Amino acid sequence: MTRVLFSAPKKDWEAYEAHLRRALAEIGVDASLEFALMPDAPETLDYIVYAPSSRLEDFSPFPNVKLVQNLWAGVEEVVGNPTLTQPLARMVDDGLTDGMVEWCVGHVMRHHLGMDAQIKVQDGVWNPVVPPLASSRTVTVLGLGALGREVCAALVALKFDVRGWSRSLRQVPGVATFSGADGLDRALGGAGMVVLLLPQTPATENVLNAARLSCLAEGAVVLNPGRGPLIDDAALLDALASGQVSHATLDVFREEPLPPDHPFWAHEQVTVTPHIASATRPETAVRVIAENIRRGEAGEPFLHLVDRALGY
Ligand code: NAP
Repeated sequence: MTRVLFSAPKKDWEAYEAHLRRALAEIGVDASLEFALMPDAPETLDYIVYAPSSRLEDFSPFPNVKLVQNLWAGVEEVVGNPTLTQPLARMVDDGLTDGMVEWCVGHVMRHHLGMDAQIKVQDGVWNPVVPPLASSRTVTVLGLGALGREVCAALVALKFDVRGWSRSLRQVPGVATFSGADGLDRALGGAGMVVLLLPQTPATENVLNAARLSCLAEGAVVLNPGRGPLIDDAALLDALASGQVSHATLDVFREEPLPPDHPFWAHEQVTVTPHIASATRPETAVRVIAENIRRGEAGEPFLHLVDRALGY
């Protein structure tokens, strides 16, 4: 029988166990699911379902594991683990994608329609300021992967002028796409909003630095549901002070939880959300896990494998 170790905090096991057993049964995989820090006979284990918040840090006792399936989209905490020699897959989950689309569209629309000003100014003065149409606003999405592409599609459906940037040049319907360093400046040039959906890798650290922030339209809005290190925080604070950036809505930070005395908390032009832009949803994610285990047992290629050299 196929042995699967679920290596994650207990609350995740409680949330996933019944769904995962059902998904494996439905897809026809006869598997034993185990929840333990170190299972018996680790050399006979076949798969590890892994949350980087679990206490498992040494993968060397599991030489015959065919796949480590990450429960999260981001793999930066595990991809560089020198004991991890087994294939690693990241999570691509419909629920995770839908949640990210909703967070991004909601926060884009908040700033696009100027909702904060309307809520604050309830002074009895009838002052009809007509909001702009989406077609007059350029939104640039950095990262055109599983999440970035769907966020682009939703923004295109709302008729925003959407640009996208990725490592390799991608085609996304209705989106002007760019790649490479020159492409980044062109993607950002004059944009009114930027949404960061890149993975955290050595190549993406501080991608939004002072020079790149200065490419944006004056008073632009920065939305970061990707990872904290994508932004040079000091440059962002300077850009907020100068008016080059009017607001930043940040879901992710270099240090999480964000320390109580961090300047972002009290900053009037910064909105902090506590890494909730989107979560892996057990109901849908178990289908991805079960499908990858089925593939491994059938000798078919795994889905969503991480490229170790690229780090995502
Ligand atoms: P993905 O499918 O791996 O896509 C990553 C995208 O970034 C790809 O388009 C890739 O380019 C691009 N990219 C990577 N390195 C680059 C570089 N050096 N220069 C330019 N583009 C680069 O990832 P995903 O599933 O969309 O997720 C993106 C990130 O969102 C995750 O890594 C995670 O950090 C974050 N996330 C956050 C939350 C939250 O709750 N805040 C939830 C889920 C995910 P190519 O297309 O050329 O490969």
